[in-house]
Amino acid sequence: MLRSFARIFVPSAIFLLLPLSVQAQASSFSVGTASAAPGQKSTGYLEVPAGVDAATSIPIVVINGEKRGPILALVSGAHGTEYTSIIAIEKLITLLDPSQISGTVILVPLVNIQSFEQKVPHVNPVDNKSMNRFYPGKADGTQTERASFLITQQIVDRCDYLIDYHGGDLDESLRPYAYWAPTGKEAQDQISKEMVLAFGLDHIIIWRDRPTDLAATRYLDNTSSARGKPSIVVEAGYAGTVETDDVSLLVDGTLSTMRELKMLSGNPHPIENPVWLDRVVDVLSDGPGIWYPLVKRGTYVQEGMKIGLVTDYFGKVIVEARAPISGVLLHINAVPSLKKGDNMADIGAIAAHAP
Ligand SMILES: [Zn+2]
Repeated sequence: MLRSFARIFVPSAIFLLLPLSVQAQASSFSVGTASAAPGQKSTGYLEVPAGVDAATSIPIVVINGEKRGPILALVSGAHGTEYTSIIAIEKLITLLDPSQISGTVILVPLVNIQSFEQKVPHVNPVDNKSMNRFYPGKADGTQTERASFLITQQIVDRCDYLIDYHGGDLDESLRPYAYWAPTGKEAQDQISKEMVLAFGLDHIIIWRDRPTDLAATRYLDNTSSARGKPSIVVEAGYAGTVETDDVSLLVDGTLSTMRELKMLSGNPHPIENPVWLDRVVDVLSDGPGIWYPLVKRGTYVQEGMKIGLVTDYFGKVIVEARAPISGVLLHINAVPSLKKGDNMADIGAIAAHAP
């Protein structure tokens, strides 16, 4: 019903806006050392100065469309070994043509360079912090906090929409899914919902009750949402692999979302009947051992079902891991290594009704 309401009024709105929307972009746009005149693509770096630890340079691409339109930020590689999401942004850097774009796209293919280069999952090895937990950052903090601070200032505060890209890390066998996090602001939530549907991933987690304190928003997408910009998170790829199908999900989903936002011509391909999930439960390990999964990513599991075994180093079974709830196995530990507190699996509970 909401969509048919929108369709009734969109044609007249487009007619009224037409003279504006075909106007040429007025000026150049810069992020860090990347500066693009209208109709140009520019590369550069967001320079994070040295502080209590080393400096770092985060690669940035600015694609400034010939025509006027909104500013969209595409950010990937906060976790530098979630390779599919990084490669998808690399493809988009080549694919997106400024002569076809209305508005401006800021692409950040790899936030966490040290993680990528040293093949360290989950954290920035410089300060051992996740680069998606310390937003809005601190100018005088450790490298992760200083980088988060600059990303907030230079990208989040200046964009209109944001997409944060993730996937299964080196030790996570993950099925693709997206997050939609309603804020309670109806107009904004309607746009972010249209974005996540247009992106087209067929499982969507409804993520409620997130931090609202602007000084402690933690996650990148939440930092952007809390500042009034419709934002989503998308995840595809797993365990160090870069499979064409997974990369295509992220590339095609981005193009479809840009069509939804009228930044590219053509029609979006929104998913009509996604599986909505309204709760995610972690299955954590309470000690070290060797992990033997019994189910695969994407499997529907029922509460109480055995999903894996943990043995000691002599082969004796010490834990039978069971599903604490019924739902979809969003990801499962992909490697035999297990220590106390590790996430053996994440299970998403299917929502009783679509939001
Ligand atoms: Zn991630």
